[in-house]
This record gives sequence, structure tokens and C-alpha cells, in this order.
Amino acid sequence: MINNIAKDIYMIKVPLPENPLKNLNSYLIKGKTRNLLIDTGFNTQICYDALSDGIKEIGVDMNSTDIFLTHLHTDHAGLCARIASPNSKIYMSRIDSQHIKTFFNINYFDNLETIFYALGFSKEEFANNIKNSPIVKYAPPIETEYTEIEDGYMIDLGNRVIKAVLTPGHTPGHMCLYIENEKLLFSGDHVIFDITPNITKWRGFQNSLGQYMNSLNIIKNMPVELTFSSHRNPMGNCSERIDELFSHHKKRIAEAYNIVMQYPGLSPYDVASKMTWSIKAKDWKAFPVVQKWFATGEASAHLDYLEDEGKIKPTNINGEIKYWPI
Ligand SMILES: [Zn+2]
Repeated sequence: MINNIAKDIYMIKVPLPENPLKNLNSYLIKGKTRNLLIDTGFNTQICYDALSDGIKEIGVDMNSTDIFLTHLHTDHAGLCARIASPNSKIYMSRIDSQHIKTFFNINYFDNLETIFYALGFSKEEFANNIKNSPIVKYAPPIETEYTEIEDGYMIDLGNRVIKAVLTPGHTPGHMCLYIENEKLLFSGDHVIFDITPNITKWRGFQNSLGQYMNSLNIIKNMPVELTFSSHRNPMGNCSERIDELFSHHKKRIAEAYNIVMQYPGLSPYDVASKMTWSIKAKDWKAFPVVQKWFATGEASAHLDYLEDEGKIKPTNINGEIKYWPI
């Protein structure tokens, strides 16, 4: 399904079955010399059919189209190699491109295992989790070549120049796209209107929540008239939504802090089990393992933030991190 949302800009709804995100909003900008496709969908047949039908309906040729990936997650990057032509560049931030390569390291899951045991996951639960990981199921192939870009990189489509803005937080190298003279923003998963972007723990990326909030300020300071986000309802008031996201995280930071004050010595997994979640499950035990993974990652990001603020401190007890108030 396509929608013409601005002059020469189309949205293609790519379904994400059995995923709470429901769909990916992929965007296609028709240019004079090149077209640009923003994000692609999981590497599955359903996503491929929806995306390629949309591209056909818009009437552009992938030979004159480049691809921009806002970030490495497989609901955005998964199909890039399959939909690209040999002439297509696949742009991604250098930081996320380097991260995506680590998914294919033989010891990637061993490292991940170590991180998740440290966060308080049991071996049993983690093994189950790996089987359901979107990294395993929907990633682009290992040989995919990315054009690695930095903050401020300009993509020239002949009639429009589009600026890549580095907004680390949701992933270490997440990028938004900005068309300055029209005040148009493609916000990826940085600002979403109906749901709160997942902020989690990453290897080699300190205090992801703190970095996310800094990146919200970067966008808040830019004049934006129309925002196109990657999931659910694509449009809304960006500045108001950023204020809501700030107050959401402030509440969550306070909630995590109160839990550590009340129950000193908990792991991030245990803190997550005591936080409030909007998921439809009777209690923490009934959470699907993948949701426990997201929740624990999210709790951990809030605990890292509190640690950075000097409010709590971690101790490592037999490879497991436990948090204490200061
Ligand atoms: Zn994402």
C-alpha cells in the first residue's frame, strides 16, 4: 500500500506480521538524478512482496535508486541487499555498519550470552531467546556492502539535498534524514508517535539513554514542519512528542531508582520484573522471553543512566551485576 505524503515523497506500508510494531513505514523520495528509498523491512517474502509492489506502483527503477538505512535493526535493514540493484548504494552510518558486521562474528552470541547472564538472565531463558532473535532470522546477508557515512553527510537527488543527522540512542549509530529548506524530517525509530522507541544496552556504547536524550535535543533544536517516522502513525508534532518522550523517561528513571532504593542488590532482570510494562501479560513470569529481553535491556539502560548520574553503583557478584543506592 502506498501513500503520496508530500511532493515526490511516498510512504510504503510494509507489514511486520506477528510483531508488535505491526508495520514499517518505508519512504521513497523521487529525485531528478537519483531516487532514495528509506528503510526496507525484514528479510522475508511478505516484506519483500509489499516493498517491491510499492516501488512498482510508484514507478521507479531500482537501477536509479539508492537505499538509506536509518539504523541496523533488521526491520529496517533486512531487505536492503535483496531489493537493491547492482547500481544502488546502501547508505548506513559507519557506527551501525560496524555493529552489524559483529552479528556475523562466530563469538557474537557467546558475547551476548555473557552480557545477558550479567544482566540476570538464566541460561535456559537465554538459549530460548537466541532461537527467536530477529538477528538470526531476518538480517541482510553477510556480504552486503554498505556506504558508510558520518554525521552531516549530504545526499544529492538532483532536485533535493538531504542531510543525514546522527542521533545515537536507539542504536549507537541511528541517523535521521533532514531536508532543511522544506523542514522535513525522516525520524526513523528516534521519534515515533504511538510507541516509545526501545532504548537498550549496547556493547561499547556507554549510557545509551543519556545519549538518546542528547539526540532528542539535537532534533528539538531543528525547525521541523513535517515528521515521517518509521512505525505506526507516521506523522505528528515532533517537538511535543520529544517533550513527551523526555517526561516518559524521567518517570522511568525515577521508577528504576525507587526500585533500587527499596530492594538494594537487584540485577537489571530483577529490576525489570518490578517495573510497570504496558504488555498484555498476567505477570513477569508470563512475559514471552523476547519481551523479557527487551524489558531487561530497557531497565539496564535506565540503571546505566542512574549510575552515570552518580545515584547508584553496580557490583559484580559471580559475573552478575547488582545495583545499590549511593
Ligand atoms: Zn529499531
